[in-house]
Amino acid sequence: METTKSHIALLASPGMGHLIPVLELAKHLVSHQSFKVTVFVVATDHASLANTHLLQSPADSGDLLDIVLLPFIDVSDIGGPSVSFIATIVTTVLRSMPFLRSEISKMEFRPTALVVDLFGTDALEIADEYNMLKFVFIASNAWFLAVMLCTPEIDRKEIDEHVKNHELEPTTLKALRETKKVPIYPIGPLVRPIEKSVFGNEILAWLNKQPKQSVIYVSFGSGGTLSAQQVKELAWGLELSQQRFVWVLRPPTENDAAGTFLALGNGSDATLDYLPDGFPARTQDRGLLVPMWAPQVEVLSHPSIGGFLTHCGWNSTMESIVNGVPMIAWPLYAEQKMNASMLTEDIGASIRVMAVESDAAVGREEIRSVVRKILVDRQGRNIRSRIKELKDNAANALAKGGSSYNSMSQVANICIQHLKTKASGS
Ligand code: UDP
Repeated sequence: METTKSHIALLASPGMGHLIPVLELAKHLVSHQSFKVTVFVVATDHASLANTHLLQSPADSGDLLDIVLLPFIDVSDIGGPSVSFIATIVTTVLRSMPFLRSEISKMEFRPTALVVDLFGTDALEIADEYNMLKFVFIASNAWFLAVMLCTPEIDRKEIDEHVKNHELEPTTLKALRETKKVPIYPIGPLVRPIEKSVFGNEILAWLNKQPKQSVIYVSFGSGGTLSAQQVKELAWGLELSQQRFVWVLRPPTENDAAGTFLALGNGSDATLDYLPDGFPARTQDRGLLVPMWAPQVEVLSHPSIGGFLTHCGWNSTMESIVNGVPMIAWPLYAEQKMNASMLTEDIGASIRVMAVESDAAVGREEIRSVVRKILVDRQGRNIRSRIKELKDNAANALAKGGSSYNSMSQVANICIQHLKTKASGS
């Protein structure tokens, strides 16, 4: 049995937006420290997960990375489609705990630490049972963490005063460290490398034929959906902008902006009757409609992409920054509005779409205007140069001696120390 190396267990809660960063963290722990890493995946939709290449361990991780899919959990009894996706995630994770406990108890090479994401904190109890170190991985920004940790104790005004500045976020982190006694290890950006997959080849072939930085990529993350009226306005806005676009299309849902969060990608919906009459034909020369899911990292890294109309999920945001792509911020739910303010007002990496009235659909004229601002006007060029700085900062953070590298080393040292203490029986 291996005793000199640390073994880290990670728990990913349901949803691609949760799974993707946990897997990236796992790969970093393997490549950075040669740790053994096991990722436990809680999923509500095993069928479509099996279709993704995400769960295949990358060849260069050897036998150091294991990915274990926990058994399917039935949550149909908690109320059906009207139940919020958050309630579904929380219940699924909770009901997966006996399986996680059983998996960990069977392990001969017991993990030194358990890392859970935001929805996995119930599992920290299992870490205590097995004398494992505990970490919570927040795959978002420090501002979000600050709000999560501080809201019950200090009022909102104080949060704004203390944490609204960052680059990406040194002031937020400093304020957090001073306010809270929890050690914080800022890591990232954790962005998937471009993976060659058969899936998405048509999109890349189409992009190859477009001029440099001429295409707007439109996607609302793994779950985002729009109302029928909003889908129509977006279609009109794209058409009126007269710019090229790749649009990841989902059928509309009313009153549920996270409509497909738990139904994973790679599906397709052939009916396009929710689009304005004649839209696909009128825009076929300069627009590509992609049903349900696109290979986003590959798309964003393509030289033809000139902008990203995004819901501001944190993974999408980081993927845009590391690829130097200016954003149009169109937040839908959860912490996305906070991310959009940070990107637009603080960092200067995006412009934001605005509805004339809150809760109204964003109109076609506004959409036409922001798309042109990003792709055609000077504003897009200014944002691009700001993003270039952020991109360089991100590369420095990840390089040896950078802030992310150092945080990862600190965590690794804590794990190694814990292992030695356990081995010596003290
Ligand atoms: N994603 C993708 N193709 C799509 C939609 C999303 O590959 O068509 C990936 C995207 O690259 C990102 C993740 O799914 O890594 C979405 O995470 P994010 O935090 O942006 O948003 P969430 O889905 O959690 O709202």
